[in-house]
Amino acid sequence: MADATYDAVVVGGGTKSLVTALYLAKYGQMEVAVFEDRHEVGGGISSEEGPAPGFIANTHSTIHFDDYYPTVFDDFPDFKDRGARYVHPKSAWGGVFEEDQASLLVYHEEYDPTQEKTAREIARFSERDAETWLVLWDKWKKYIEPAFIKWLHTPPPPPGVPDPLEEAMRNPDSGLEPQWAEMSSSQVLKDLFESPEIRIALYRTMHSWHLHAPDEYGLGLNTLLGGLMWTQCCFFIGGTHSIAHALLKCFVEEGGKVFTKSPVDKILVEGSKATGIRLKNGTEVKARQLVLSGVDPQQLCFNLLGEDKVSPQVARRVKNLEDTFTTITWYDYALHNPPDYLAKSFNPDIAECGWLVLSNRDEERLSKEHAWFKLGKYPRPGVTTMVVCPHSIFDSTRAPEGKHLIKTETPCIPATYLSAKEWREFKKVQAEEELKEWRKFAPNMTWDNVIGYMALTPLDASNLRNMYPKGNMGSNVDNAPGQLGRFRPIPDLARHKVPGISQLYATSAAWAPSLGGSAWQGYNCYKVISEDLGLLQPWKDKGRPY
Ligand SMILES: Cc1cc2nc3c(=O)[nH]c(=O)nc-3n(C[C@H](O)[C@H](O)[C@H](O)COP(=O)(O)OP(=O)(O)OC[C@H]3O[C@@H](n4cnc5c(N)ncnc54)[C@H](O)[C@@H]3O)c2cc1C
Repeated sequence: MADATYDAVVVGGGTKSLVTALYLAKYGQMEVAVFEDRHEVGGGISSEEGPAPGFIANTHSTIHFDDYYPTVFDDFPDFKDRGARYVHPKSAWGGVFEEDQASLLVYHEEYDPTQEKTAREIARFSERDAETWLVLWDKWKKYIEPAFIKWLHTPPPPPGVPDPLEEAMRNPDSGLEPQWAEMSSSQVLKDLFESPEIRIALYRTMHSWHLHAPDEYGLGLNTLLGGLMWTQCCFFIGGTHSIAHALLKCFVEEGGKVFTKSPVDKILVEGSKATGIRLKNGTEVKARQLVLSGVDPQQLCFNLLGEDKVSPQVARRVKNLEDTFTTITWYDYALHNPPDYLAKSFNPDIAECGWLVLSNRDEERLSKEHAWFKLGKYPRPGVTTMVVCPHSIFDSTRAPEGKHLIKTETPCIPATYLSAKEWREFKKVQAEEELKEWRKFAPNMTWDNVIGYMALTPLDASNLRNMYPKGNMGSNVDNAPGQLGRFRPIPDLARHKVPGISQLYATSAAWAPSLGGSAWQGYNCYKVISEDLGLLQPWKDKGRPY
């Protein structure tokens, strides 16, 4: 006898499963219950009053894009009123170079819709690259972006059927060269641009997403597309937890139920049908129509189901997933004053750059850093190539009046490579080294300017209850070629179902297209369920192409 019964029972309350749950409640007209291990829902979209009182830091996801939630804004008109509001930085991404404090800024689409202002900045380094950027921008707006947005919001098609991006690549007018998909990031960027400045800034910006070395094959096209998409980056006001809170409010208003501090132990399978879940406290919850998993594929297959419930091929492929190198440090500094860059005399807009790469012109630098990681070491003295994100410059709610909250990111070794004691030491050294590096570009970044800081290393990420043993930021599945797009996490699971088990659906950032705090995988999972169960499909009624 079950302790409770719902139409849909959801394991985990991360972004992806919350989005699917929301669609099931409203458009599936189901009674839906979410069971979450932690004290609150949201998973990797969470914010805490961290570095000092009144300073709000994102503990995981921080930089978002206009393309992350368009479907939710459209299909749930209250989403914005429930707190999901965002701002754009003036320049989206850029780099500043130690040798001469020159900076290259790419302006946000809102401030530079034709990208002519950006082209003028690029022309300070290369006239030819400025022209290339404008040609790319034209192709992006006409052909690539519409296909890209459709691709993000479409479940991977069955084998043999091209996905929207593959279709675009077949069109010679799109400007997308098929060989770019096989090439490394540095090969593609060298194919396009002659100036090291744009190559370094674009590559390091996109490194924050795939965390792979510039010379690794198969990521070149992703780097280029991501760089174009990054021109519409955004920051959610109040921190990314505003998204989780807004999703939660909408879900509850649709009649959804949420149970926190309710870890799920097993997905119950009778014959070949998922029938419900058992919580760690022994409570059994039945599902009339479906069970939805919102956790990583490893936990789904080996803990919640059990290896005997999945095919040997699925078990083997999930065991073999690459899960090691999607790891970073994430430091939030509470400051009296924002960094005062020497490069402001080159371009004063540097203060308002959303994702600023602090680098020199050594194009081998990131490859060398990755070589150290492969040896299990973090290169010292110094820090790996640092990125700065000045949250409070765009959103005054993130810090007390007149003060600032600024985040940094550096690529890092996985959590398991050091002991807890070594990580404690690492944290202190890292803060010293980051400030030292920062002062090369902004001399006011002394300890006198720092009110407090919150350090998140891969070990800290792995210690957050929803995270993964190595501190992987990609739901335990690296953004590696072969684990992206239609192959993510493995081809057998990519269409949000587990072969051989009916009434069971799965989503998370480990599914197509890639990691991140978007709504994509949650929306795509609902699309699959709606086809199977004949549920309402708002995109069709609205004539939305995705
Ligand atoms: C340090 C860091 C920085 C990041 N920065 C960015 C960024 O800037 N931009 C970006 O787009 N993305 C970023 N990401 C990635 C992004 O946060 C994740 O990809 C995304 O939030 C994952 O969402 P999800 O719903 O798939 O999984 P999660 O958010 O991990 O949600 C899964 C949920 O399931 C719960 N759960 C797990 N097991 C159980 C169980 N047995 N029973 C019940 N509940 C369970 C967990 O507690 C969790 O709440 C970052 C991640 C990290 C770690």
